[in-house]
Amino acid sequence: MHKFNREFFAALDRDDPLAGFRGMFDLPGVTYLDGNSLGALAHSVRERIEQVVEQWGKGLIRSWMEADWINLPQHVGDKLAPLIGADPGEVVIADSTSLNLYKLAAAAIKMSERSKIVCESGDFPTDLYMLQGLERLLGGAVRLETVPRSQVLDTIDSDTALVVLTHVHYKTAEIYDMQSVTDIAHSQGAKMLWDLSHSTGAVPVDLNGAHADFAVGCSYKYLNAGPGGPAYLFVAKRLQERIVPPLSGWMGHRDPFAFSDHYESAAGIIRNLCGSPNVIGMAALDAALDLILEARIERLREKSMRLSDLFIQLLEDRCGFHGFELVSPRDRECRGSHVSFAHPDGYAIMQALIARNVIGDFRAPDVMRFGFAPVYQRYTDIWDSVAALASIMDTREWDDPAFKTKAAVT
Ligand SMILES: *Cc1c(COP(=O)(O)O)cnc(C)c1O
Repeated sequence: MHKFNREFFAALDRDDPLAGFRGMFDLPGVTYLDGNSLGALAHSVRERIEQVVEQWGKGLIRSWMEADWINLPQHVGDKLAPLIGADPGEVVIADSTSLNLYKLAAAAIKMSERSKIVCESGDFPTDLYMLQGLERLLGGAVRLETVPRSQVLDTIDSDTALVVLTHVHYKTAEIYDMQSVTDIAHSQGAKMLWDLSHSTGAVPVDLNGAHADFAVGCSYKYLNAGPGGPAYLFVAKRLQERIVPPLSGWMGHRDPFAFSDHYESAAGIIRNLCGSPNVIGMAALDAALDLILEARIERLREKSMRLSDLFIQLLEDRCGFHGFELVSPRDRECRGSHVSFAHPDGYAIMQALIARNVIGDFRAPDVMRFGFAPVYQRYTDIWDSVAALASIMDTREWDDPAFKTKAAVT
């Protein structure tokens, strides 16, 4: 076991090629380990939002053209594309992850003769809920098979229309091998839809390398686009003209400003749009992406693995005997950018940490999540958060009724 001290972590910060990014974010007086849930605010994002608000105030409706608001969904989609191994014209920014998942799952069912959708129990709830809604709506045309992770691959068969999985699991951070799972789906004639919410901006993704069909993901986690930031969707070029949009709104129309009574879908990825774009959110994402692209995903991944390895080592070293159990994979190659530990008093312990300005989060029933957003994380955050945790455990500071009342958002 390496002999750790704070100076060891401070030296890593001094040598960190990404250290300069920290100062570009607002992170006032906190040890923030929740960038996997809500990314931090970059100064450039704040400025860009102010600029859009100005364009609204002064340019009014003219800004749709003069400030090119109307093309943001496509332009920002093209900017995001290289982070997920997509080509220009394959990604568009729209709606929420929940809605995009629904739109693409419905479109996939429509283009198939089959009815079965395979998904994983314990996946992020909205993904399952949206598919359940689709199943209810379409009656017999959709049959959902929700199975534990260990059975997912065996459940994919020649009746399967679509497989829906989250690349990095929101609770455990376990990563699916995108290439081999996609290959298995295709070998059965099924399509593959990946949810990249916990991947994009922290873990390299190569959708086209894996021949993926569809993907969705969210922008307010590692991409730092702000609360409720607009989501994205990907459709491989080869499938785009086969999409019959289930939510056929005017922004996906071939000519929205013809105001025709009849829907005709636009060519390409644009047909997956529905209503007017959230311009402020898209501008925020546009500016936020610049930082992630400049940091470069390979460097972000390398740092993220190092941060989480060190966190696991230090926590187990200093607090292991207090009953924390690692629920994330120990192998860094199989783990996304957060680390989860189970503890029966996890909720109260996390509240006690937050009271000390060390911010992680909690996922029922007993999982404490610690996210490492490599673009602004410091190595000293590892030392400081584990030091706070050790103190909370050693003194039983968490064992206070004030820390045991559940809030609506955890
Ligand atoms: C965060 C997350 C979402 C979020 O969905 P919203 O529609 O933006 O609320 C969906 N799926 C997964 C896997 C997530 O991690």
